[in-house]
Amino acid sequence: MGTYSDFYRRSVDDAENFWAEQARLIDWQTPPQQILDASRPPFARWFVGGTTNLCHNAVDRHLAERSDQAALICVSTETGQERSYSFRELHAEVQRTAASLLALGAKRGDRVLIYMPMIAEATFAMLACARIGAVHCVVFGGFASGSLASRIEDAAPTVVVSADAGSRGGKVMAYKPLLDEAIRLSKHKPAAVLLADRGLAPMELVPGRDHLMRDLAAQHRDTVVPCVWLESTEISYTIYTSGTTGKPKGVQRDTGGYAVALAASIPHIFGGRAGETFFCTSDIGWVVGHSYIVYGPLIAGMATLLYEGLPTQGLDRQPDGGIWWRLVEKYKVSVMFSAPTAVRVLKKQDPALLRKYDLSSLRALFLAGEPLDEPTGRWIAEGLGVPVIDNYWQTESGWPIISIANGVETQASKFGSPGLPLYGWRVKILHESTGEELTEPGQKGVVAIEGPTPPGFMQTVWRDDVRFVDTYWKSIPDRMVYSTFDWGIRDADGYFYILGRTDDVINVAGHRLGTREIEEVISGHPKVAEVAVVGVADALKGQVAVAFAVTRDGQGSAALEGDIMKRVADQLGALARPARVHFVGALPKTRSGKLLRRAIQAVCEGRDPGDLTTIDDPTSLRKIQQLIAA
Ligand code: AMP
Repeated sequence: MGTYSDFYRRSVDDAENFWAEQARLIDWQTPPQQILDASRPPFARWFVGGTTNLCHNAVDRHLAERSDQAALICVSTETGQERSYSFRELHAEVQRTAASLLALGAKRGDRVLIYMPMIAEATFAMLACARIGAVHCVVFGGFASGSLASRIEDAAPTVVVSADAGSRGGKVMAYKPLLDEAIRLSKHKPAAVLLADRGLAPMELVPGRDHLMRDLAAQHRDTVVPCVWLESTEISYTIYTSGTTGKPKGVQRDTGGYAVALAASIPHIFGGRAGETFFCTSDIGWVVGHSYIVYGPLIAGMATLLYEGLPTQGLDRQPDGGIWWRLVEKYKVSVMFSAPTAVRVLKKQDPALLRKYDLSSLRALFLAGEPLDEPTGRWIAEGLGVPVIDNYWQTESGWPIISIANGVETQASKFGSPGLPLYGWRVKILHESTGEELTEPGQKGVVAIEGPTPPGFMQTVWRDDVRFVDTYWKSIPDRMVYSTFDWGIRDADGYFYILGRTDDVINVAGHRLGTREIEEVISGHPKVAEVAVVGVADALKGQVAVAFAVTRDGQGSAALEGDIMKRVADQLGALARPARVHFVGALPKTRSGKLLRRAIQAVCEGRDPGDLTTIDDPTSLRKIQQLIAA
């Protein structure tokens, strides 16, 4: 195949021919007429004139060769259920769900919001949307009614697909009351709600609006629903992500470009092969779940393992903390994908668990979502005896931007670095205020991407091209480049190191949260006058949110702290709950009134707060320093 460096060069210097070749990895109903239309930068339109369908590529096209092979393996240590669907069975289930959605009025281009736990029906729903050309908007099941309501309002779905409940660590979490509350809060009301009933929590159905999946699926047991051939540039889905403002952005993805990007990534980056099993421990509510639980493995003809449950000990049905490895042995997993945070949780257990099962099928473990610290990387690599491959990407990119493409050429990994720019991505390090390219090893700058962006990258922000351009492409002066909002450096061998976000986004257990969203919820508390939320380094979760609040009456208490924490958990979800709420008399700000979040964060982490010449009232920061020291 040649060297990786030749492969990379071609992907950027001869991008159209390179991607035209990759496009052959998927089925097209009509082949693309134009590989790339970059006539309106920064928008890149891939495989223009081609028509295809994600569900066809993930399911139908495999029927001829592998209809009886496992496609979707669902394991829940929460309910004790374990079931495998062959491609043939998955095809039948997806058609039943597609027919149900059509019966409820969902059409091509309509949004279907999916708020579900990690169960087979969530995958059926996503693939069913793709099949009929509806746009799915999956919202992470751990989000609470406030977050859900803002997403329902923005997506304006025709149908919402949900379930009675999820379960975590044996604790049942009812989804339906959260959904009902979210619909009540939202100005947009979906016409119909389709519900999976797992028998975990009682549900009250709203007559005329709510329907049970099993009733509709029974009515449509044998209904044939053909795949709708979509334009390559037609929307497949939106997924919400946090930024610097309180309002989440709907990252919008196309159909053909995404299918090709994923189809290419499985052999080149992940080294997966048809007939094998891919196990990604993320959640379908995140981009990693979209790409590597659902679409990527299935497009490549691999079985995908959907696991509901914790990786650690603690349940009657889960005899030991080696559950992941038991699954690797049982289903002969060859490629596994997880997050550093999950590995740090495993590290607390007996390392012998890593040796208890036969892991000979496993070729590599991929980790993404947050920086992989060296001790964690080493511990798991030595414990498993397989390569551990860090990969850096974002909701916006859809697939990895920086990693090691061992499927193209085996190259060394370096601890602490996700690796080299992947084919298709023109990754630069730029000076944050001059926009100058920093080419010397060790120079710190903003990690940026020059257009045209490769297939799979977001098309735009849902219904907001202006926000897409203004947010991502205008932050570096005089240059139209995409900012990742991450700091980075490159070493003498060209390996990148990611040094944290340049904006107010924090990363809790590999999940991205906007501190502004949390601040908005806390400011809504009647006793709170003002608040700053920062991300503080945490040994287990990477970062946790810590709040500094000024109360209206100047009084703080443990009860109020608890009340504020609960308010955030209720409105946004447990992930966003601050680890601490400190009460202070004033917040450090610049003379122009801008909150000095980064200085607060530095103080919380015992670092030098940096240049404070613009600070209005230095005592406010000193008080925080004393509070943290105490
Ligand atoms: P999300 O959009 O939720 O996937 O979050 C993307 C952000 O997570 C990136 O902008 C980085 O800040 C961080 N991130 C993801 N993968 C890595 C990685 N391998 N190393 C360091 N940071 C990462």
